[in-house]
Amino acid sequence: MGPKAKPRAKARRNGECVAIARKAVVLLGPPGAGKGTQAKIVEEKLGLPKISTGDILRDAVRCGTPLGLAAKRHMDEGRLVPDEVMIGIIRERTSRADCSPGFILDGFPRTIPQAESLDGILTEEGIDLYAIVIKIGDETAGRRLAGRRSCPNCGRIYNIHLSPSARGEFCEVCGAQLEQRSDDSEQVVAGRLAVYHAQTEPLVSYYRERGRLYEVDGERPVEDISRDILNMLGRKM
Ligand code: AMP
Repeated sequence: MGPKAKPRAKARRNGECVAIARKAVVLLGPPGAGKGTQAKIVEEKLGLPKISTGDILRDAVRCGTPLGLAAKRHMDEGRLVPDEVMIGIIRERTSRADCSPGFILDGFPRTIPQAESLDGILTEEGIDLYAIVIKIGDETAGRRLAGRRSCPNCGRIYNIHLSPSARGEFCEVCGAQLEQRSDDSEQVVAGRLAVYHAQTEPLVSYYRERGRLYEVDGERPVEDISRDILNMLGRKM
């Protein structure tokens, strides 16, 4: 903890008030690796809030806010939204009360400047970081994104080939009509993968050099991947 670090979160254990270590879990990996799916599972199992920058931006686009209007053209073309915008979003979101025990980041950081800013926020707050990269090849990513469908209402993610909804084109949880994300189209996906390799993949070395990286093979069933992630986090929590 640096000199500006804030006190750690407090919890009651056996009637005593004890300081608990706060954890930030960063999920890395190309689009289609299953970060959103795994973040939701970790959120449910560990009770830490999931922060998906893609979801925050898509909500802003849907609501037509100034953020949404500014982000839309970058997203439609598969490019990254500027770092200063994203860092502002994360600084605000992680300062809310529900993040006091820690949080899971899905889709942030995506560049070295974002990772450096996150390090600054975590040091100020006295939060430990665990970065997990879910590894898949480009071919798998392309195939998965082409089949991905999501529920615009409850956020549940399906894949028409691997994990279809029991109700076909409708969400089996809430019944809403499933949608394909506009940036999952074949033309945009190639660009998103190129952006991942150029701008986000360097984060794997960034966290490895700092002794913060855990690697999981993402080309396996969802349950196998989440078991590895939860085991790894369970040992660290
Ligand atoms: P995702 O849902 O994580 O695949 O994100 C969808 C799109 O939102 C990306 O292709 C980017 O245009 C934008 N986006 C999400 N997170 C970030 C981020 N951390 N930095 C820059 N752009 C982002």
